[in-house]
Amino acid sequence: MDIKFTPAEEEFRLMVRDWISDNLPKGIKESKGMRASIPDRHAWYKLLAAKGWHCASWPKEYGGTGWSLAQQYIFAEEGGKMGAPGLSFGVTMIGPLIIECGDDWHKERFLPKIASADEIWCQGYSEPNAGSDLASLALKAEKQGDEYILNGQKVWTSYANEASWIFLLGRTNTNVEKRQEGISFFVAPMDSEGIEIRPIKQITDESHFYETFFENVRIPEKYRIGPEHGGWTLGKRLLAYERISTGSATYFQMFLDRLLSTVQDVHLNGHTAMQDPVVRQKLAQVSIELDALRALGFRGTTQMLKGNMPGPESSLNKLYGTEIFQRITDLGQEIQGPLSLLWDDPAFQDMKHLWAKTAAGSRANTIFSGTSEVQRNIISERVLGMPR
Ligand SMILES: Cc1cc2nc3c(=O)[nH]c(=O)nc-3n(C[C@H](O)[C@H](O)[C@H](O)COP(=O)(O)OP(=O)(O)OC[C@H]3O[C@@H](n4cnc5c(N)ncnc54)[C@H](O)[C@@H]3O)c2cc1C
Repeated sequence: MDIKFTPAEEEFRLMVRDWISDNLPKGIKESKGMRASIPDRHAWYKLLAAKGWHCASWPKEYGGTGWSLAQQYIFAEEGGKMGAPGLSFGVTMIGPLIIECGDDWHKERFLPKIASADEIWCQGYSEPNAGSDLASLALKAEKQGDEYILNGQKVWTSYANEASWIFLLGRTNTNVEKRQEGISFFVAPMDSEGIEIRPIKQITDESHFYETFFENVRIPEKYRIGPEHGGWTLGKRLLAYERISTGSATYFQMFLDRLLSTVQDVHLNGHTAMQDPVVRQKLAQVSIELDALRALGFRGTTQMLKGNMPGPESSLNKLYGTEIFQRITDLGQEIQGPLSLLWDDPAFQDMKHLWAKTAAGSRANTIFSGTSEVQRNIISERVLGMPR
């Protein structure tokens, strides 16, 4: 991939930038790096959908834009710079999986509603005793006639309160030699009788994820995607899509930009932090690391241009990106000094950014979609070919 953009692509960038700037809801623009409210986020998805840009990366026949990978990258980059919220799990995870592995019914039923932002999805993978070791999942999916009955519990279900659908892994066979062999991939409406959610309080004082309980939840057979007992392969496929989107430099750039604005605001030893040689060195370091992550992203894009789907290499982006993100937020706190202890203090509303909450929130990034330790295992075994 040539990483220089053509004049036509730069023109495209200006068009996209103008549109995002004109349309991004005010609440998001003013959110100072905090998570956008649910109404603002949904309003943004609807605006993207009306413009035909919600599922930009999908094939055109399913509602995609037909943009080149360079255009998709520019779109993500411009959105990231302006603080546009990340796309929903429907667009980044289950949609691509249905396109790849779903049958015609799945495609017709689910893809248009994701593209139009009418249906939001959540992910039911983790269980109380199955996180990194996902194959120990125990949620039972018992076949009865042409239905499955789901019983068990999921945990850490992000967006469970706003989602209309959940995709999940369930155990359809316990009598297997390898635990991975008895798992199937399902979807279920969140308003099904027998599904109950309970919020979990986070370090940031918010509750973005939930415990999700299934008690005799009946779903028709057609809500299974892929072969019965063959869900593990689909489940892993989906994780590769997830890791690509969670390790993207375009999102973390927004926080580096905020750091650059913090260093103009904060004064150290009679000058702005920006003029401090030690701070400048640290800024240069994270900036270089982010450039390296961008180059890594381009490498993944080149693979996709050659027709290869994201594989274990996406763990490199996830590991490196999320750890850089923490270094950026730690630096923000260090530079802000005692002010960085402030959480949401109204007396400091005029400050462009308070780092404490962002730094606390960034701890989650090295845990969700596979912890850093797990990414290191994947990289050593499946990318570098090292022995177990
Ligand atoms: C903000 C947030 C949102 C989330 N959203 C969702 C969601 O929407 N849906 C969903 O299904 N899940 C979600 N998760 C759950 C997430 O996928 C799990 O937290 C993650 O997989 C780790 O599992 P665990 O929490 O059970 O930790 P454990 O697996 O118990 O790990 C505990 C510690 O042991 C280490 N460890 C475990 N195994 C190994 C190993 N083999 N080698 C080396 N070290 C190891 C881990 O790195 C970690 O430090 C979310 C988590 C967070 C933090």
